[in-house]
Formats: sequence, C-alpha cells, structure tokens
Amino acid sequence: KNNEVGWNFDNSYSRLPKSFFSSINPTPAISPELIIFNSELATSLGLNVQELQKEDGIEIFAGNQIPEGASPLAQAYAGHQFGHFNMLGDGRAILLGEHISPNGKRIDIQLKGSGRTPYSRGGDGRATLGPMLREYIISEAMHAFEIPTTRSLAVVTTGEPVLRETELPGAVLTRVAASHIRVGTFQYAANFGTIEELQTLADYTIERHFPNIEANEDKYLSLLQEVIEHQAKLIAKWQLVGFIHGVMNTDNMSISGETIDFGPCAFMDVYDPETVFSSIDTQGRYSYGNQPFLAGWNLARFAETLLPLLHDNLEQAIELAQDQLSGFNELYQTNWLEGMRAKLGIFNEEAEDEALINGLLSMMKKYRVDYTNTFRALTLDAMDETALYGTQEFSQWYELWQARLSRQQQSQALSNQLMRDSNPAVIPRNHRVEAALEAAVKQGDYSVMKQLLTVLSNPYEYSAEQTEYAKVPTSTVPYRTYCG
Ligand code: AMP
Ligand code: MG
Ligand code: MG
Repeated sequence: KNNEVGWNFDNSYSRLPKSFFSSINPTPAISPELIIFNSELATSLGLNVQELQKEDGIEIFAGNQIPEGASPLAQAYAGHQFGHFNMLGDGRAILLGEHISPNGKRIDIQLKGSGRTPYSRGGDGRATLGPMLREYIISEAMHAFEIPTTRSLAVVTTGEPVLRETELPGAVLTRVAASHIRVGTFQYAANFGTIEELQTLADYTIERHFPNIEANEDKYLSLLQEVIEHQAKLIAKWQLVGFIHGVMNTDNMSISGETIDFGPCAFMDVYDPETVFSSIDTQGRYSYGNQPFLAGWNLARFAETLLPLLHDNLEQAIELAQDQLSGFNELYQTNWLEGMRAKLGIFNEEAEDEALINGLLSMMKKYRVDYTNTFRALTLDAMDETALYGTQEFSQWYELWQARLSRQQQSQALSNQLMRDSNPAVIPRNHRVEAALEAAVKQGDYSVMKQLLTVLSNPYEYSAEQTEYAKVPTSTVPYRTYCG
C-alpha cells in the first residue's frame, strides 16, 4: 500500500539524541473529512494524488493511521515570545517523519492540530478549521510569490468540536517543510542540553541544510553566516510584497530560511511601516517596519546559542559572532534595494536609487495609498487610478523616475516586463481571505476559497480576474487577526 501512495520515509530527526523530541502518535479523529488537498504539491513530492484522496490517505491526514516508515514525534524547542524566554515544543504538532521526494529532497511531513503532546502545557493540542485554512491559503500564496515557505498538503476536519471562545470545528493541517529546526531549537539545546548535544544539532543542521559549508574549518561560524544570509533574503522578500508575519518569535524563525508559522499574518494594504494586524501585538513589536530589526534581534539570539562552538574563549567567540551579525543590515538592505529597483523597472545601480524609492514610499504613507496597487498602477501606467495622481509631489517624482529609466540601456518594454514580473497583480486581500474562510467554516462552502486559491496561484498575471481580486474595499474598521 505504501508503494501505491509513494511515501518514502527516512527519519533522521528521530536519530538525534532523545532529549530533542518525544516519540508520540497523533490522537485519532472521530470522523475525518478531507476539506482541501494540494494535488500540485503532492505530485511534486512523488505522492499518488488519487490514492491520497481515498480513505487511507485521509486517515493519515487525520492522524488515524501512521504511514509505513514514519516515526511520529513532537519536537522540543524553546523560544523568545514577545521578548520573553520560554520552554515550548510542539504542543499541537506531530512530525510524521521525513519524506524523500523523487528528486532526493528531504522534507518534513507534519500534522498540525493532531492532539496533545508532552509539550502542550495548558493547551488542548487541537486546531480549528478557520486558522488551518488560513495557513493553507497564505502559505500557498507565498509559494506563488516565490518566497521560501512551508507549504500545505491537506486540511481535514476531525468531526470534533474544539472549544475556543465558542465551539469551532476541529481540523488538522498537513504541513510540508524543509525542516522544522528553528532558532528556538538551538535555544533549547544551548539552554537545556549539553555542549555535545548542541554540537550534534549544529552538525545535523549543516548536513541537512548547508552541506556546502561542511568542510569549512570554522563551519559553525559559516552556519551563522548562512542563516543570516537566508534571513536577510527572506525578510527582504516579505517587505517587498508587504507581508506581515505577526508573530516573529524565535520559535517561529526557521533555520532553513523558510517562512513558518502562519498565525496572525496578513498583507499590508495602505503603506505604513507601523501597520500591525495581530490582536495580541499591542506594542507593535512585530509591525511591518520592525520586521527587519526583529529578524536581526532573533539572529542575535541564534548567535548566542552558537558561542560555545565558535571559540574556546568567550570574548573571542562574541567578537566573531558580532562581526557576522553586523553584516545583517547591509545584506538585508542590498536584497531589499535590488527588489525595489526591479519593482520600478530599474536594471542597473545608481547612488540615488534609494532616495528615489524612499520618495515614493513617503508619498504612499502621506497620502495613505495602497502599497501593492500603487506599484500595480505604475506597472500598468494607470496612476490616474490612485490618490497620488495630480499632486505636485508625485509629478516631480514621476519625472525623476522617468529620467532614471531613460538613463539605462534596456528598452521601455524590457523595463515594463521587469515590473510585471516583480509587482504582483494581486495579493491575498484581507476581505477576500475572510470571505473564503467565512463561507468555508460557516456554510461548508469551499468554492470561494478554491476560487481565491486559483487566482493567487498566478499572482503576476495581469488578467481581468486578478484585477477584480486586486480591489480593496473602503473600510473604516481596522483589520484584526487572531492566533488560531
Ligand atoms: P505559536 O504561537 O503558534 O508559535 O505557538 C507557540 C507555542 O504554543 C508552541 O509551542 C505551540 O505548539 C503551542 N500551542 C499553540 N496552540 C496550542 C494548543 N491549542 N495546544 C497546545 N499547544 C499549543
Ligand atoms: Mg510556533
Ligand atoms: Mg502558530
């Protein structure tokens, strides 16, 4: 049967020291029902799309059956949550194991919402349908934007109510990730483990994610450098597309450089660095504009965990770590500038580019215009549709921009193509996501979500349908997101 489905498990994480995890099976669900299944992802993983949607497949997604070769476990980790250090661990997630895809990629298959674990603390180990579908939609949108991300293979309902403020339908999300090693995993090892365990984790991480540095003499410093580089790239991509993660705790920062843990995340509409959607982020710690800074903060926490491996002498270890950390801002800025130039159709580099970009952003903030749709309008040469049009500031900026474009060798047509490839025609608009979730959870109507997913799978396609989904309703009520 295993061969029919195509599972090919090899569970390296379960061969780590026992302190890194607890072996545990998912809690079975009473009457699982498949809500959504990602055929495209399943195919790319070498899994059988037909078999997985039959009863045996659904039983696996619900945690009622363990696929052959899997060895379920909950991972131990710690983390700084809004700046406060806590012992955490998978409280409602179970790693089935690592599936090796036909192209040799090792990927985690994890069930989220599949019952209590030794790390559940006061929690019920369960998840509800709305937030799991939300993760499915947003993570698939991130993938379509070509932003490194965990992905979603399936969502099933369990047939059991879960008590939150009201009773909600229980659900399990099958999440696919390069791994679930987090900054918090290293914090766990550094704070609660031996140096040998920390080194084992570092070696394991290098072998799994950064084999290119394995032979380096100072490979733990290289590990720090790799993680810094990957995060600088990732956060720049978030900023460029207006993604607000919402809960950038160190346990939600993946060492592989994927976006992970889609809780209260949402996309910015009006350009404002202070934008916060999450109801629990009352201080704005994880606001849009703070994300690069907070990534740097998290990376400093990561560097601290590596100190014993960097040098026998603590002061020298600190110096080495600080040298690496001090490069983050510039790496981030370089990635961001490169992306912003592309959004404005600019191929080469000029010293004034940053000022040109910031000029546009400050107008967006001042006139409270939509971030995505301003770039969209620039791409379509339809600025008369935005509130910037007609202002003297914008006319001046526009002239500078046009002059800038005329100073590069590439044609207008090439420049415009670059803009089309860099400025999404559509993002997951908050009202669209909410409408999809409401239809799904309240009416059991999944067609709204499926339509939204189809539109979002081609975010750079400037078609009539994307235009419809790009529209923003005028609302006076600030958008709020909640942790699921
Ligand atoms: P998050 O805010 O999603 O990153 O979760 C932080 C921690 O809380 C992680 O250790 C989760 O596993 C745990 N957690 C969140 N929700 C639940 C739940 N319903 N039951 C048990 N643990 C949970
Ligand atoms: Mg988390
Ligand atoms: Mg979460």
